[in-house]
Amino acid sequence: MIKRNKPTGPRERRPSYRKVCKFCMEKAEDINYRDDKKLRHFMTERGKIVPRRVSGNCARHQRLLSVAIKRARHLALLPFISEHR
Ligand SMILES: [Zn+2]
Repeated sequence: MIKRNKPTGPRERRPSYRKVCKFCMEKAEDINYRDDKKLRHFMTERGKIVPRRVSGNCARHQRLLSVAIKRARHLALLPFISEHR
């Protein structure tokens, strides 16, 4: 992973608020893979998992989330990457 240590300039496109992991806010110990509505929130329209830097999840919960999504996919609760045009 590449980490860029750019000096913070005035043109930095970062929201002023600090992103907090939603699951940490809920104090979630684990993520229910049957909760597909919640899981969908962390997926793109094409069925991809939203990257951590976008979702703001912490490493622990992002990992739990990806496992939950993968499980949900196998149970056909969530789509695999769909590219039908
Ligand atoms: Zn978290």
